[in-house]
Amino acid sequence: MSETLIICCPACASRNRVPTAKLGGGTCGKCGAGLFMGRPLVLTSANFDAHAAKSDIPLVVDFWAAWCGPCRQMAPAFEAAAVQLEPRVRLGKLDTEAEQAIATRYAIRSIPSLVVIHRGNEIARQAGAMPVSAIVQWVRGVI
Ligand code: ZN
Repeated sequence: MSETLIICCPACASRNRVPTAKLGGGTCGKCGAGLFMGRPLVLTSANFDAHAAKSDIPLVVDFWAAWCGPCRQMAPAFEAAAVQLEPRVRLGKLDTEAEQAIATRYAIRSIPSLVVIHRGNEIARQAGAMPVSAIVQWVRGVI
């Protein structure tokens, strides 16, 4: 197996070429950050497209807002899901108040909403808070 995957750095969003066999380890060739953190990254307009469209692994986005009780309730479950799901997928949180253009682009009507995006295409969506087991099961079922 000499297959390599393009993985975008969670810190600087640079594209890194990583052998599939070594996925999960490794550091960014540009900034030296670990390519996986075992927790969701913070998505902004500066790094969203890199992770949503230019990475070879799917991106699971938690669309949330600070005023949303169910969002805050689900946050620890989403964090825990990252430990179980990485490096097969990347998990990221998008603050729908701070990044309204992206929330609008994805026509987010209720939060929390989880959206799985791979190479720029939405492949699944689920609205409503879920426990960690349901998040993990749902993501594994759609990727
Ligand atoms: Zn980096």
